[in-house]
Amino acid sequence: MSRVLAPGSRIGLMGGGQLGRMFILAARSMGYRVNVFVPEHDSPAGQVADEETTRDYLDEEAVRAFARGVDVLTFEFENIPRQTLQWAAEHAEVRPRGEILHITQNRAREKEFLAAAGFPLPAWAKVATAEDLSAAALLTGYPAILKTASFGYDGKGQRRLESAKDAMQCDLSGGPFVLEAQVPFVMEVSVIVGRGMDGQTACYPVCENMHRNHILDTTVVPARVSPDVAGRAEQLARAIAASLDFVGVLAVEMFLLPDGTLLVNELAPRPHNSGHFSIDACVTSQFEQQVRAVGTWPLGSPELLLPCAMANLLGDLWAEGEPRWAAAAALGDVKIHLYGKAEPRAGRKMGHLTAFGSSPETALARVVAARDALRVGR
Ligand code: AMP
Repeated sequence: MSRVLAPGSRIGLMGGGQLGRMFILAARSMGYRVNVFVPEHDSPAGQVADEETTRDYLDEEAVRAFARGVDVLTFEFENIPRQTLQWAAEHAEVRPRGEILHITQNRAREKEFLAAAGFPLPAWAKVATAEDLSAAALLTGYPAILKTASFGYDGKGQRRLESAKDAMQCDLSGGPFVLEAQVPFVMEVSVIVGRGMDGQTACYPVCENMHRNHILDTTVVPARVSPDVAGRAEQLARAIAASLDFVGVLAVEMFLLPDGTLLVNELAPRPHNSGHFSIDACVTSQFEQQVRAVGTWPLGSPELLLPCAMANLLGDLWAEGEPRWAAAAALGDVKIHLYGKAEPRAGRKMGHLTAFGSSPETALARVVAARDALRVGR
């Protein structure tokens, strides 16, 4: 094991969202200083960073100067241009390496990588033209989901095609795309795995994820799956992390089919919304794990201390005015996390709640009750 990055060193973080904010809070509690590079002022991460550079990702001089000023560099945002990390890597070690970001920021590249390594995926094909789309549909059948290859998240850039007629009427501007078979999943799960410089891995318990309008709504841990399914899901995540030679925290989203088959939906090369429960419910949070991995520490235990559930707080909750914080806070066993975002737009992730229980069901009921208590007018 190489030497740990000395506390007091400077970690550089690219990206300014809530994942960066929670990473910085973990890094600071371990004695590090964190410099953040983010295009906008007053970002969730910028608010808690030691130093903030607010420049464009394509400002070469600013990127190089930022990288020169830190001891190691990581990121919290997927869509950082490839060029930016190449500039940065000339001055500081980037973990996970920039090539991984390049693979995961494009659905087609990601699927090509996973398929070549033999990992199970829904039937899929690349689509740029109407001819490609007809050929792809022969592979996937209908219904199928057409997704933009880049810049899609939370269901953005996705269309469901029910039939050849839908495909024929499909506007293919804004591509390229991938077409995927719509799979009849019984559950969506994710596995978050930390992987260190020495290849050591630490897998969090499988998360059961419920979405609303394509956005993660609640996560329950441990997922209500058999030990066999949980074991295979964890094995898949570890194997994918190893095949990427990953250093950091990787999230693997999967579909569980009725016959127990697991298919990989997508990867995130960073802590993940479904892993937020780990801040309150695990020995080591996913954010501390990222700090440990990029700082060359041995990984911490991902052990879950209690069944728990997480509920996202979206901007919609503010539609009728400021949520009733006191009502949720009165439930003294519920943890409230807010990301410092000023503008509560619909669908925007503003914060989350975590609650515990003697079982996943009781934890889920508790977190949903707490979120309901926040709603004005109830
Ligand atoms: P994604 O952005 O790819 O994670 O998709 C967002 C959500 O759309 C997923 O969490 C699923 O609920 C749904 N979805 C995406 N791809 C598929 C698929 N191939 N089959 C069924 N549902 C899907």
